Amino acid sequence: MKPTHIEHIGIAVKSLEESIPYYEEVLGLKCYAVEEVKDQKVKTAFFKVGETKIELLESTDPEGPIGKFIEKKGEGIHHIAFAMEDVAGALAETAGKGVRLIDKVPRKGAEGLHIGFLHPKSTGGVLTEFCGK
Ligand code: ZN
Repeated sequence: MKPTHIEHIGIAVKSLEESIPYYEEVLGLKCYAVEEVKDQKVKTAFFKVGETKIELLESTDPEGPIGKFIEKKGEGIHHIAFAMEDVAGALAETAGKGVRLIDKVPRKGAEGLHIGFLHPKSTGGVLTEFCGK
């Protein structure tokens, strides 16, 4: 198991509409997709930076994971996603090394990718996602 690159960095924002201009007008990136992920109670906006994406996350429900995160910590970096060729295999291998998982098996994330989260208590406080096809 080895990540091939950073697939994306997830950033919690209060409002996509208010946050997108910074990425487009200041950094010169282009928002190429906005997608709602009902399962996670978020609306996402994507930008490409080389092979890596920036994923802005706006909560659609104050009780959802991003709503709660913003209430506790405010806006900012929420998670880092590593690109994995075999997400299911990587999760199983990680669990075998004693790391606590949020997702024991992959689920469907934005862009139709398979995703699975590791628990930040086992990763030095960094919410970590594995992401792949
Ligand atoms: Zn993500």
